[in-house]
Amino acid sequence: MSAKIIQGEFAGHTPMMAQYLSLKAAHPDTLLFYRMGDFYEMFFADAEKASRLLDITLTKRGQSNGVPIPMAGVPVVALEQHLAKLVKLGEAVAICEQIGDPATSKGPVERKVVRVITAGTITDQGLLPEKSDALLMALVPDQRAGGGGGGGGGGGAGGGHGSGSTGSSGAGSSNAHRTRALGAAWLNLASGQLVLAEIAPGRLAHELERLRPAEIIVPDGSDAGLVPQGIARTVQNAWNFDPRAGERTLQDHFKTATLDGFGCAGLTLALGAAGALLKYAESTQGRSMSHVQSLSVETGDEYLVLDAVTRRNLEITEPLRGGGNAAFTLFGTLDTCVTSMGSRLLSHWLHHPLRERSVPQQRQAAIDALMGEAKNFEPPRRVLRDIADIERIATRVALGSVRPRELSALRLSLKAAPSLGSSLPPAQDALLERLAADLAVPGGCLEVLDQRLHEEPSARVQDGGVIAPGFDADLDELRGLTTNAGEFLVALEARERERTSIPNLRVEYNRVHGYYIEVTHSHTQKIPDDYRRRQTLKNAERYITPELKAFEDKALSAESKALAREKALYEELLEALRPHVGALQRIARAVAQLDVLAALAERAWMLDWRAPVLDDAPGIEIKAGRHPVIAHQVTDFVPNDCALTPQRRLLLVTGPNMGGKSTYMRQTALITLLAYAGSFVPAVSARFGAVDRIFTRIGAADDLAQGRSTFMVEMTESAAILNSATRQSLVLMDEVGRGTSTFDGLALAWAIARRLIETNQSYTLFATHYFELTQLASEYAEAANVHLAAAEHGGGVVFLHAVRDGPASQSYGLQVAQLAGVPQAVIRAARKHLTDLEEQAVRVTRPQLDLFAAPVMGTAAASTGTGTANADANAGASTDTTAAGVPEHPLLERLRNIKPDELTPRAALDALYALREEMDRHD
Ligand code: ADP
Repeated sequence: MSAKIIQGEFAGHTPMMAQYLSLKAAHPDTLLFYRMGDFYEMFFADAEKASRLLDITLTKRGQSNGVPIPMAGVPVVALEQHLAKLVKLGEAVAICEQIGDPATSKGPVERKVVRVITAGTITDQGLLPEKSDALLMALVPDQRAGGGGGGGGGGGAGGGHGSGSTGSSGAGSSNAHRTRALGAAWLNLASGQLVLAEIAPGRLAHELERLRPAEIIVPDGSDAGLVPQGIARTVQNAWNFDPRAGERTLQDHFKTATLDGFGCAGLTLALGAAGALLKYAESTQGRSMSHVQSLSVETGDEYLVLDAVTRRNLEITEPLRGGGNAAFTLFGTLDTCVTSMGSRLLSHWLHHPLRERSVPQQRQAAIDALMGEAKNFEPPRRVLRDIADIERIATRVALGSVRPRELSALRLSLKAAPSLGSSLPPAQDALLERLAADLAVPGGCLEVLDQRLHEEPSARVQDGGVIAPGFDADLDELRGLTTNAGEFLVALEARERERTSIPNLRVEYNRVHGYYIEVTHSHTQKIPDDYRRRQTLKNAERYITPELKAFEDKALSAESKALAREKALYEELLEALRPHVGALQRIARAVAQLDVLAALAERAWMLDWRAPVLDDAPGIEIKAGRHPVIAHQVTDFVPNDCALTPQRRLLLVTGPNMGGKSTYMRQTALITLLAYAGSFVPAVSARFGAVDRIFTRIGAADDLAQGRSTFMVEMTESAAILNSATRQSLVLMDEVGRGTSTFDGLALAWAIARRLIETNQSYTLFATHYFELTQLASEYAEAANVHLAAAEHGGGVVFLHAVRDGPASQSYGLQVAQLAGVPQAVIRAARKHLTDLEEQAVRVTRPQLDLFAAPVMGTAAASTGTGTANADANAGASTDTTAAGVPEHPLLERLRNIKPDELTPRAALDALYALREEMDRHD
């Protein structure tokens, strides 16, 4: 918004301050960076906030109502680093530039907010992380059922609604639930991808975890809880989200009469969200989103669903614990992509395994071709090194923010593109052939760059040297004046040396002082009258002469004219490139895919991964599977099989702590995920029938941020699984029920397992310490026991990490504690106490409930024994103890012999003391 001075409203302020205040009034929720010469200044509360956030000095300038105005500023050259900091902190920044000419302005130069920078709208090279995307999202809840609509905005929407809409949801509110769906749209501003979806409110958290938007815009009046903490929330007028207006915005944008061709038929709320999104994005960039050239609609069933918890648990791109090493994630293991476009796409593929198997199968075939007999992936990977981030460069071309050197990188990349195509293996592969065809470079585009862009452009347009010589006659002439300066100055120097007889006289130039003649102090007496002193140095004086001054004026004005001309020509260059943005995006997508496929081929080759089979027969069958990440962190990783079929649907996984249970479960999920993402997998062979979702209930993390205890989290996650897991879902349950008392926990775990077998009928790995659960295998044909083998050895325990049939026989709790470094004295005390407990164990022969639970004195059986058949043959010396036949505690005998009726009070007290004493001895 351009600010002419609105004096009335801001009377009492200087004209400049009035201009500032009017601009600020139009951008109340942003930090306004107000350009003043070489600085962006902030005033009032903005200044105080910025000084705090950026750690910059707070000063004062002028007065407002008699009080000095706080001011803080950042140098223009340091803008990017400060923006990066502010955007990270979730602040929005409005950049206000001088657009008028100071020479001709009366009063303050005209200024305008040219861009607003927010977390979800950054496209700048220096602000965006290279290997991940920053998504901008718009969310709008269905408020028709909320009564009274969304205030004024809702009324507007209602009006549109009544005007003869044929929209599919025009049925009105009679059957509307409170919030039926959420309209959602998300835009990757840096690549131009726009996606629409309508999502059930219950799925929002999962979708947010999948997409991880940097910023979400919502209509005013909507529930603040819609946007989780940690994501920037921007409130917009509710009427911006009107579905009909949104539809029109999209039709205008894509220049189509209907959006049905994009798959939008039936959408309403999402159209409103998309309309608001486009408008907001345009307002922040100060220009249209011409690089957004298509949209896609997600219906929710194209991807294998990974709920939010599962994404975190499986450590796909982020380590589970903050501060963990990102190299030890699935992405970290696989990302050997050469370009950042490839890395970003790989991350996307890993988060979006597909349910339909044709795409993963095509990817597999391409990976296979890229492996070939002899590392066919190497030649394309060499060419990829010459390819820059075409995707983001194309966006910056469209937005007019591209830098000259990015364009020269683009030129090199486009020249390399054909060799990328020809470096691909000759084997016929449909996907590779299609991608090679997509690499075709539009001739016009390269021509524009070749003709207009300097061979080695300088970093910034304002430095000049950006436009190729020979392209523009005017520019060449202006440049000639400055370049020919060299000859003139050499001639001048020679002449002046002769005239003054000063042999070491020099004519020079620098940016600060302009042209000058330098004479050392020893010759100053020979200076002619027409020399005027410009500057004194330690050893020399610098002078200017009328002739040199005249030359300087001419040269400097030629230089500034040349710069202005270059700026205009650069704009024209961008204009000439804009029609090619779509083609550049196509090339970028092809390059990214080839990069990912070649990286997956390289990984498969190096790590000996194999192509999984995806087919119709239900089940998950993995032979000698390895954990894709941990297998490379430990020496001698033990591969394990996993077979889940309709006949063997639930595996009860037992075994000691540290035995490898969760590794086994996670590797099963990760291998499944990799298979449906199209990658090869760490297994000797693997076969998968259809899989619709992966659920995990692993680990016991308190969700304190949301005020939920461990047990509450555990049950919430379990509830989600029981409510939605299907016959095609893979469910991992680790230690369900541990967060509460033994009996509660066992009862719950028992009931949950039965439900999974009987009702959900999902493929389930159920790790548990409750030994009783292992009996489910005899109750249900579809349930089976497996355990992680371990053996006792020299008082310690050796984990074999091998999955064997049958339940575990020992818990090895003390041995594991010893391994963990619990002090020897504690281990000794525990061992003694354990023996005591075992000795004291009384007649009750209840089977052990929790393999690790300390038995309650006098009731439980020995903690290390199971007392059931099927003991692990590898478990070494078993310490099985049966409770039956254990002698009664001697104190009970003594108590029984006391006859209270026959005792005097004194004798009773004595007896009590004696008993206490005896008991203390036993402790
Ligand atoms: P649990 O869940 O039974 O407590 P984990 O799965 O956490 O055990 O495994 C503990 C450690 O054992 C892992 O960090 C890893 O170092 C090692 N481990 C697990 N599985 C294997 C395996 N198959 N081969 C070799 N080492 C393994």
